[in-house]
Amino acid sequence: MTKIIITGAHGRMGQALIACAPHFRELEIVARVDRGDALDVVISRCDAVIDFSLHSATPGIVEVCAKNKKAIVIGTTGHSDTEKAAIREFKSAVPMVWASNFSTGVNALFWLTRRAAEILGPDFDLEILETHHRLKKDAPSGTAKTLAEILADVRKLQLDKAARHGRAGIVGERTQSEIGIHSIRGGDVVGDHTVIFANAGERLELTHKASSRETFANGALRAAQWVVKQKPGIYDMQDVLGLK
Ligand code: NAD
Repeated sequence: MTKIIITGAHGRMGQALIACAPHFRELEIVARVDRGDALDVVISRCDAVIDFSLHSATPGIVEVCAKNKKAIVIGTTGHSDTEKAAIREFKSAVPMVWASNFSTGVNALFWLTRRAAEILGPDFDLEILETHHRLKKDAPSGTAKTLAEILADVRKLQLDKAARHGRAGIVGERTQSEIGIHSIRGGDVVGDHTVIFANAGERLELTHKASSRETFANGALRAAQWVVKQKPGIYDMQDVLGLK
């Protein structure tokens, strides 16, 4: 039995994890932690923590896991570069699955995006469009950032220079070395992502639409069962799914 603590337990994803966990016979939720609760008081009860809280909370949560040699699954997004560096400091202490998206479909989208970019070559213009519910705090989504990282990697571009977050005003003609990233917010959309490859005369669009948070929750619970058997290091959902 893998014993789990959820951080961010009162949130939308925390509630989805609690709803989905009973379908995993080998998993048990032993504590639910949210803002103001002390993780270090309950950490000894678990084998792994699943974190879907707030970007600024994750480094401290990972530190408690590292001190207590507990594995962690990180689903929270929106970390600054400083927060990311603070999380990476613990990579030799504990195994972590750190993924911007835990759905199987989106991980297939990651794989397909890489292949499409390789096949289509540098003549195709690259644009990413993401839509989420009105309550989402970070933009662009972590998934859109991962898609942009994949495109930049294939094209050998530096993402901080190549990224064009929306366009307004007299921005001039589009260059070949830009990756457009656009965030739509509204209603209760769980998460839509489209990667557009556009050339003169043709356009390829790869789209994933999530209609339920269960897809992320089930992926994160599966990752928790997997991560407790791994050596210290940073893994992603493609490792869990065996897509590498
Ligand atoms: P939410 O705002 O509904 O829930 C976040 C919860 O975290 C809240 O209950 C909040 O009180 C709690 N929290 C804040 N600070 C905390 C702290 N210091 N310690 C413990 N808990 C704390 O948000 P959500 O929609 O559930 O999303 C949570 C995060 O997960 C976001 O960053 C979101 O982008 C990300 N997310 C990731 C995936 C994925 O597949 N990786 C999928 C959906 C959402």
